[in-house]
Amino acid sequence: MKQVYTADSVPMAWHMANVLEYHGIQALVKNDKLYSVAGEIPFIECLPEVWVQNDLDYIRAGQIIKELESTAKTEEPDWRCRACAEENAGNFDLCWNCQAERVASGEAD
Ligand SMILES: [Zn+2]
Repeated sequence: MKQVYTADSVPMAWHMANVLEYHGIQALVKNDKLYSVAGEIPFIECLPEVWVQNDLDYIRAGQIIKELESTAKTEEPDWRCRACAEENAGNFDLCWNCQAERVASGEAD
């Protein structure tokens, strides 16, 4: 296993892991329970991390993440998942929490 990304938020970590999975790369998120342990551990040590299961996926995962980061600055507004009601950033196409597809407000109902 190799660490490919340190996110500044849990939703961002899950988003990265979901996109990697979408590309056929097995990924997992560590430290995603940081809110419950914050205070015990120095903050920098409990940032959420994204790891790939297979070291051979490491370089490809890094490229995918780089691409995602370059498109991360978006003007799109945040959206709320219709399945689980979590907030998602405007550039997320899938809910970070439940992987439900985003439904554009114009297409709803
Ligand atoms: Zn959801």
